[in-house]
Amino acid sequence: MGIETAFLGEVLADDQIATGADALREHSTDWGTEDGVEPAVVVYPKSTDDVSAVLAAATDRGIPVTPYAAGTSLEGNPVPIDGGISMNMTRMDDVLAVRPADLQLDVEPGVMGPAIEEAAGEHGLFFPPLPSSGSISTIGGMIANAASGMQTVKYGEVADWVRELEVVLADGSVITVGTKAVKTSSGYNLRDVIIGSEGTLGVVTRATLELAGRPQQIRGGRALFSTLGDAAAAVTDVVQSGVDVAKVELIDSASAMMSNAYTGADLPDVPMVFLEFHANHGIDDEIAYCESVLSVHDPLEFELADEETMDTLWRARRDLAFAVRSWNLDLQPLVPGDITVPISEYGPTIEYIKSLEQEHDLLMPCFGHAGDGNVHYTVLVDPTDPEEVKRGEDAYAAIVDYALSVGGTATGEHGIGLGKREYLEREHGETAVALMQRLKDAFDPNGTLNPGKIFPRDDDWQRADPTDYQE
Ligand SMILES: Cc1cc2nc3c(=O)[nH]c(=O)nc-3n(C[C@H](O)[C@H](O)[C@H](O)COP(=O)(O)OP(=O)(O)OC[C@H]3O[C@@H](n4cnc5c(N)ncnc54)[C@H](O)[C@@H]3O)c2cc1C
Repeated sequence: MGIETAFLGEVLADDQIATGADALREHSTDWGTEDGVEPAVVVYPKSTDDVSAVLAAATDRGIPVTPYAAGTSLEGNPVPIDGGISMNMTRMDDVLAVRPADLQLDVEPGVMGPAIEEAAGEHGLFFPPLPSSGSISTIGGMIANAASGMQTVKYGEVADWVRELEVVLADGSVITVGTKAVKTSSGYNLRDVIIGSEGTLGVVTRATLELAGRPQQIRGGRALFSTLGDAAAAVTDVVQSGVDVAKVELIDSASAMMSNAYTGADLPDVPMVFLEFHANHGIDDEIAYCESVLSVHDPLEFELADEETMDTLWRARRDLAFAVRSWNLDLQPLVPGDITVPISEYGPTIEYIKSLEQEHDLLMPCFGHAGDGNVHYTVLVDPTDPEEVKRGEDAYAAIVDYALSVGGTATGEHGIGLGKREYLEREHGETAVALMQRLKDAFDPNGTLNPGKIFPRDDDWQRADPTDYQE
């Protein structure tokens, strides 16, 4: 028996409501390893009015609503754990307006990276902070997860490129937060409260994004190192020396090996750093400066590559998440690690991770947006060996604690979702988390928007029966 869904038929057309087994199953998972439950029903709004009508009616009935976009989250962020309604935002996928005179773009939340790039590109513009998953994820999901990407080292995060949002609250009311102006000091900044709120405070139905002029010169290359320590030290030095670099990605030798197996890339079996430079003039001088900084760290090789070769290298880097996952199907990845530390702590953090890998006798490939101090580490464990799983979990938690101890964060870009709830209070402290909870209560007094996410709760492992919600 499911929830009473007849009310949905009063606000949506039949083709906007799905209860088939495939749709329910699809909306009970994301790209991560956290378990959810199937929703009772999936709805596909096509407009702000649809979102508003569903939320108002669901909230009245105490039915949970979990926004779902492309489902590429890695922490269970869009996965319902209390059943109810999964609100799939991907049919709201129109580019509403490009306004090149203001370097801005208005989009619906289900628009994905390629559509943004195409609309902006027609005007010689681009949206710099797209995540590596930009081609398969939506702007609504990026905003809700406070995503960032390979170019964040130069251009900042998605949050830095969002100007204004239309948001539907749990009771169905519609608000606009932020402004189309480049700056504002008007009142509390609710836009930045919504960004990163993982669909727990409201549903984004329109976004105004800032765009940048496409650089005239783009060059890429890679540096190879004999040790991971040298590679990490080189990254730190590049950032600290003020090299104007647009991407700095670190890949350890285990990740390189997995990438070769998955993509057929021919990466050497050594730690490496991929770099990209953007400029309108003088790019060769900047690259020469970068090379001089790298040379201090004894690179085995620093090589610029042509566009085609760089495309292959970046594809290999983008596919690393898939490569690590499919490396050995007998091993299961724990929640993908996503710590980010101040850049001066990058080398010691990588060293610490690798020391734990040895100490706990585990396989823990590392890669990441190194220029931001970000490390994606994956702890691979044999799920049939409880002792190994425990060692893996201990190593994972120790790495997060280490990052927090040096002033970093448990999650640089994937969000808390389900997977990192235990670290929320460790990172922010009891008083700050209590204040976050009061914000949640103010936005969503009935607690029906994406319940169970971000905040740990007592009944985590006694999840509600999704059939409990009756009118
Ligand atoms: C291979 C791979 C690489 C990745 N690389 C990166 C990376 O480089 N950087 C990075 O930051 N992340 C990365 N991710 C994580 C993920 O892709 C991003 O967080 C992405 O932005 C999620 O978007 P989505 O459309 O898939 O949203 P979903 O996963 O469907 O949802 C994400 C969250 O947003 C909420 N939500 C969705 N739509 C709305 C809306 N309209 N209003 C309010 N809430 C909403 C959901 O409830 C959920 O909490 C990667 C993932 C994969 C699988």
